Amino acid sequence: MSKHVAVVGAGVIGLCAAAEAAERGHQVVVYDRQPEDAERCSTGNAGMVVPSHVIPLAAPGMVALGMRMMLNPRGPFRIRPRLDLAQLRWMWQFMRSANQRNVDLGGPALRDLSLLSRKRYLELAETDDFGLVKRGLIMVCQRAETLEEERHTVEFARKLGLSAEMLTDTELGKLDPGVRYTAAGGAFFPDDCHLNPAAFLTSLRRRVRAAGGTFLYGEQPKDVRAIEADHVVLAAGVWTRELAGQIGLNLPLVSGKGYSMTLNQPPVLPEVCSILVEGRVAVTPMGSTLRVGGTMEIGGSEGTIDWPRVDGIADSFCRYVPACPRSAFDDQPVWHGLRPCSPDGLPYIGLVDRYVIAAGHAMMGLSLGPATGIVAAELIDSRAPTVSLSAFDPRRFA
Ligand SMILES: Cc1cc2nc3c(=O)[nH]c(=O)nc-3n(C[C@H](O)[C@H](O)[C@H](O)COP(=O)(O)OP(=O)(O)OC[C@H]3O[C@@H](n4cnc5c(N)ncnc54)[C@H](O)[C@@H]3O)c2cc1C
Repeated sequence: MSKHVAVVGAGVIGLCAAAEAAERGHQVVVYDRQPEDAERCSTGNAGMVVPSHVIPLAAPGMVALGMRMMLNPRGPFRIRPRLDLAQLRWMWQFMRSANQRNVDLGGPALRDLSLLSRKRYLELAETDDFGLVKRGLIMVCQRAETLEEERHTVEFARKLGLSAEMLTDTELGKLDPGVRYTAAGGAFFPDDCHLNPAAFLTSLRRRVRAAGGTFLYGEQPKDVRAIEADHVVLAAGVWTRELAGQIGLNLPLVSGKGYSMTLNQPPVLPEVCSILVEGRVAVTPMGSTLRVGGTMEIGGSEGTIDWPRVDGIADSFCRYVPACPRSAFDDQPVWHGLRPCSPDGLPYIGLVDRYVIAAGHAMMGLSLGPATGIVAAELIDSRAPTVSLSAFDPRRFA
């Protein structure tokens, strides 16, 4: 039965839900308060599809690691101090969630959602070009301790049935002849992929329109309760917290601000995407360009740039890739986006009355988008979702 579906938010999550629902025959309208071609978190990100990321952000050791990183003003992590009760509560909930139980519960749930997404990406890439490259992901480590931590991640991933292997420095060089890292070694996740996120959004909008869906750009519903539709998908990124508040749902979310720069004529062009582990920098070849991004600033807001941290991203890259002169980053435009972060590092996906909640994907929204779209459409169809959503229950902090 065809239903009226309203989707609030035209980032990757909202568009994936809209495309899947429209293609199942529902009448879909998508609201976004920004213009169609505006930058949003879903456009300038690192474009990685990462089934390897099975450890939620809230994991043992993360609180101590964050504290250490905060001491460095050019470092990859910061909490913007705010007298904001919601942010303080979020931090308390994060500390309580950063334990092994969260990893044991979240890991398999993230794996299943990720693998469903990867499968959908491969299907979609057969008929549309959004730059999907299936070459895996390298986690590049400079220090022996970090390499050891990666070894634990590799073991955990293998336990969950994922492909993963450790690499020596020499093996790193062989795997990606496009770049020479200064590294002690790394970990390789062959099933990860990368793509061009802006091209993927264009493809999603095309699918929505082709299936009869419509867009209301520049429109922000005053109160989601007043939207006339059988189902309303709340997929407004970090701003979903306010929308959920309108229906009486406590959805703890804070922004995790990050930056990226895209070099149009990079002096070095890797073939495989990578994360420079100690620097927390993501490196993605996109066609002939190279995107380098990073930083997680909890509570960061739109419209401002923390230049020392942007410099820190460029410095880190050049430390790992000495063939790249630091001047390659001079005067580069800097993009920023707000990751929607939940306190336990797991997204919120599920049905609350007539509302489908789809938010809080933090560092993995692009990666988990297609699967989130599929399960959102299944909820709209009143069908059992393909993967279990119990770990993603939007009411878990209610
Ligand atoms: C530096 C960086 C690198 C990243 N790299 C990766 C990566 O490699 N792989 C990966 O999987 N993820 C990555 N991410 C994370 C990913 O970008 C996010 O998880 C994802 O974009 C979140 O998508 P979203 O649709 O939830 O939110 P958004 O993209 O923020 O979209 C939300 C939309 O809702 C709209 N909106 C807000 N409020 C309202 C309202 N009241 N009414 C109507 N519309 C509204 C906004 O205008 C916006 O368009 C990265 C993020 C950053 C910052």
